[in-house]
Parts: sequence; structure tokens; C-alpha cells
Amino acid sequence: MRRRLLALAVIVMLGIVAVVAQSRKAPAGTAHTGNAFKFNKVRDGIYHAVGTGTLAVVGNSSFIVNDDDVIVVDDHVSPAAAWVLLEEIKAVTNKPVTTVINTHFHFDHAHGNQIFDQRVVNIIGHEFTRQMLLSNSIGMPLYRNYVTGIQPQIDDLKKRLATESDATTQASLERQIAVAENNRAAQAELKPTPPNVTLTDRMTLYRGNREIQIRFLGRGHTAGDVVVFLPREKVVMTGDFLTAALSNLSDSFPDEWVKSLDNLKTLDFDTVLPGHGDAFTDKAKIGYFQDYLRDVWTEVSRLKQQGASAEEAATRADMTKHSAHLPINGPGVPLIGVQRIYALLDQRGGR
Ligand SMILES: [Zn+2]
Repeated sequence: MRRRLLALAVIVMLGIVAVVAQSRKAPAGTAHTGNAFKFNKVRDGIYHAVGTGTLAVVGNSSFIVNDDDVIVVDDHVSPAAAWVLLEEIKAVTNKPVTTVINTHFHFDHAHGNQIFDQRVVNIIGHEFTRQMLLSNSIGMPLYRNYVTGIQPQIDDLKKRLATESDATTQASLERQIAVAENNRAAQAELKPTPPNVTLTDRMTLYRGNREIQIRFLGRGHTAGDVVVFLPREKVVMTGDFLTAALSNLSDSFPDEWVKSLDNLKTLDFDTVLPGHGDAFTDKAKIGYFQDYLRDVWTEVSRLKQQGASAEEAATRADMTKHSAHLPINGPGVPLIGVQRIYALLDQRGGR
């Protein structure tokens, strides 16, 4: 009898393992107050998840609730952030997450991958995304700048707190310190985890009446960005290939990106769920961003030809004519983007 009970207990435990998408032990740094995400419902079963600021999540994710499962698109900046996302999704549905799609390899979109139990969850991404997460994604400047900036940020917040006398500001600084310290703990546990299913061009998932296309539209923000396109619902999830404002250029191909965005325009959608910023319906934003990319390429190339250092070009490159449509307050382009363009020009010049 005891043995039968034991066997039953083992079966029940195995059953639990089979339906729970994430590893069972909560990662470090999940502490937060209130919801970490606001879930904006854009269609039946389609949500855009935007951080509230109580936990470091950085990028947006999206999730799709199907008849029998849930598909998550991008999983944030850390195992902690992805863990909390799954916890909060449980308030919307008890269906299991079976699939994660990484729009690209950047830390704020794919560093939650490690919490998923790969015996029951497919993590889908471009072949390039897999290569980067397998090799040197955390050695790339974008992540190095981010992760080395956490401690100085904590030190700075603490310094400000020490001299602050206003109670409301003190409380706000204390919250920001807690968020940053949790993020520091979360980053310490990071193990970059690549997709276990890859594509190079396109892949389609079918769930009942729903069709979910994963499309590579050409190099742009990285060499391997994919968008997730739902033709019936006319929704596209774009990661950083197209955001609500400006995308970083650190791993980009700005000139090719313009053409790849033309490919995006051929898809029949009316709602964009971007990797940063709020969802939007104004397709003119694609053109505004293409104009910016063309100009940043031309302007930085011109400065390089004149002999300007990357640092000088980063201060002098003037994109203010795009300020009506993009958040540009004065001359200057982020140095990391200028360095990328310089490197591309050097590579091409040396060919
Ligand atoms: Zn990115």
C-alpha cells in the first residue's frame, strides 16, 4: 500500500513537471511591490506586456493565449523578470506556456530564456540569435555598458538619498535603489540560453484558427531579427526592428535596415506591438524611422570622411530635423551607434 502511494506521489510530481513551463525555484531578484507588468489587451487573447517600474524588465514582451497554450514573445532582461512575467500571466490564464519566441539576441529580449524548462517549452529564434547567445552576447558593448552601469547607478542613487530631505523623493529613491539592487542580484545568476528551435527565413505556428508567422525580413537592428505576424488579427510584434521611437544601432546594419523595413510594409497589419514604447497603429512611423536611418548613415559617413573621431561624430552628427517625429532634443547620436557605423565602413572600405 505504501509503495503504491509512493508511486502515485511520483506520478503526480512528474505530472506537475510536465505542465509547468518554468524551473521550480524562483531566481534571485524577483522581489517587488505591486504588479511588475501592465498587460495591455490589443485583441482577444493578445497582450502587450509593459513594465511598470517596480522590477527591472527593460523591453516589452507580448503573449498570445491560444485554445490550449500560451506563446510568449521576448522574455526580458533577466531570469527574475521572465519568472515574474510568468507569475503575472497566471492571473490572465492557467494555460501552459509552450513556446517562447526571441525577436533577437539582445539582453533585454532574451535573458529570461534560462527559466524555461526545455523539456516542455520550445524557444524559437533566428539561427543568428542562437549563435550570439551561444557565443559572446554578453561580451558585446550593449550589454557590457548596461551591466557595468548598474553599480554606479546604485551608488549615485544612494548618494542622492543621503542628501535628500523631501520625504516623497526619498521614498522614490529608495524604490529605485531596491529595483536596481534586485536587478544586480538577477544579473549575477544570468546564463545566456539560446533558442532550441531556429529558423533562417520563416516559420509558421498554427493554433486552432490562429496563424502565427515568424518572419525574417532582412538584416536591420541585428543580423537576425524576426517579427511575429498574426495575419488574421493584423497584429505584428516587432521587437527592436521597429519601436515606438528610436532603436539602438549597436549591432545594426543601418543601410540594409531601410530595405528590410520596406519588407515589413508589405505585411498587412494595423497594430504594432514594439519592443520598447506603447503599441501603435500609425504606419507612417516606419517611414520616419527609415528617413532617420538614411540620414544617420549619410551624416556619420560624411563626418568619418572628414576625419572626425567616433567621439567627435557622436557629438556633431545632427539629426534634429527628425525631432518632429522622433525623440531628438539636440545634435548628437549615441556613441555606440556611431562606433558601429565606423566599424561597418571600415570593414567595407577594407574589402
Ligand atoms: Zn535590441
